[in-house]
Amino acid sequence: MKILFVTSEAHPLVKTGGLGDVGGSLPGTLTGLGQAVRLVLPAYHQAVARLNGHTLRARLSLPGSEDEIAILEGTLPGSEVTVWLIDAPLHFNRAGGPYGTSSGDWPDNAERFALFARAVVELAMDRAGLDWQPDLVHCNDWQTGLVPALLAQEEQRPATLFTIHNLAYQGLFPWETFERLALPRTLWHMEALEFHGQLSFIKGGLVFADRLTTVSPTYAREIRTAAFGYGLEGLLNHRADRLSGILNGADYEIWDPARDPLIPAHFSAADLSGKARNKAALQHHFGLAERGDVPLLGVIGRMVEQKGIDLIAAATPNLISAGAQLAILGSGLPHFEQLFRELAARYPHRIGLHIGYDEPLAHLIEAGADLFLMPSRFEPCGLNQIYSLRYGTLPVVRHTGGLADTVVDTGTATLKAGTATGFVIEAASSEALTATVRRALGYYRQPKPWQQLIGNAMAQDFSWHSSARDYLALYRLTIEEHSSLSG
Ligand code: ADP
Repeated sequence: MKILFVTSEAHPLVKTGGLGDVGGSLPGTLTGLGQAVRLVLPAYHQAVARLNGHTLRARLSLPGSEDEIAILEGTLPGSEVTVWLIDAPLHFNRAGGPYGTSSGDWPDNAERFALFARAVVELAMDRAGLDWQPDLVHCNDWQTGLVPALLAQEEQRPATLFTIHNLAYQGLFPWETFERLALPRTLWHMEALEFHGQLSFIKGGLVFADRLTTVSPTYAREIRTAAFGYGLEGLLNHRADRLSGILNGADYEIWDPARDPLIPAHFSAADLSGKARNKAALQHHFGLAERGDVPLLGVIGRMVEQKGIDLIAAATPNLISAGAQLAILGSGLPHFEQLFRELAARYPHRIGLHIGYDEPLAHLIEAGADLFLMPSRFEPCGLNQIYSLRYGTLPVVRHTGGLADTVVDTGTATLKAGTATGFVIEAASSEALTATVRRALGYYRQPKPWQQLIGNAMAQDFSWHSSARDYLALYRLTIEEHSSLSG
């Protein structure tokens, strides 16, 4: 099969979250399974710099665009995946992140991702002079939402699949933006891109893609309810027979404590002495007391409400009175960052805090902490809890989305059955979080069950292989359905 994989992030070229992990690993796994995959993303300056060289494959002109558009070809570092970068310097070549800077989103994000979508349509329709037409175009999140909508206007188009990595981000813009983008008029309709008087990029995917997926079975069910659907639950219920959940995989080439180059000591379930050294290194890094017997709680992630970061902040004084240290890495909403700065100033010997984005430190926290806190209000899949399992850092998670699909709560029965891998919180409250951490610490103080839990956790296998096969089966089905409809 020929697959065009369309994404706004792919590790190690550009990553702000889980989408970057998926974009960086699923295409390589599919290539390993014998599929012809092309990965396409915008030529952000950092993506071009990290490509280890590229060639100019083609030039494109898009009606109405003043930018000079080129298609650069290279290979995704660490893989054999061919990458096409859509080089449109006025849109993508600027200092800052893929969506904006710390002071906010780029004001022209609609224009940027509309141009990206239009360029992708030219690739998908084999009009870019590359002599390659995909059988299926796999789009991801709102930044690629216009691709299925624009492809639906074409005859002889490839099949389309749209994956929702996070329904909370929809690419909503005012009506004037729709006009300015000069999109086909017929798309301004409540059964197309219009969402309560606004332009919704994500609806382009949700309405027009032949099939929809999201990144865990539980989230696939949750987004069909009002509590998680943001008003899109009606549409998602209407398309329920086209919607399924496929759990993200972890890239164990990058996240494996037995060979991770970013941690000071390697370890495995058979020999955890390296884990103790990583704990000491993490405590040392943050100037915390280097004590093996003090429970160390790790936190990594975007500091936004979704992640329950406010619940962690509210629980912190109680977690500290329960005897814990905390190692926290993240960035996000300024008031949450400030809240943690204040907590770190109040408990300097108990809290290690780094506000920012730091991959080596993320690996050290995964390797050195005893428990990993992820009390998300919703979590489409979540990757950090999966990495935590592999590093024997028992995850404390809420019962939602991919967290519910990957972590098994510890209790008498699951311990006995050998299935327990972490601790599950029901309510989204700081009290419930504190109570669950206290429950976990009860086990921490008993070496035997604790060792068993670590062993169970480290034995979990969430590698891409089974998920990539699920995607392949779905690609085949989608292509068949599409060709029988258009045939
Ligand atoms: P989301 O995609 O919602 O942000 P995930 O758990 O799916 O959450 O993925 C987050 C990814 O981003 C993980 O690989 C995590 O290690 C990484 N990450 C998040 N914040 C940071 C940070 N401040 N520094 C380093 N890595 C981070």
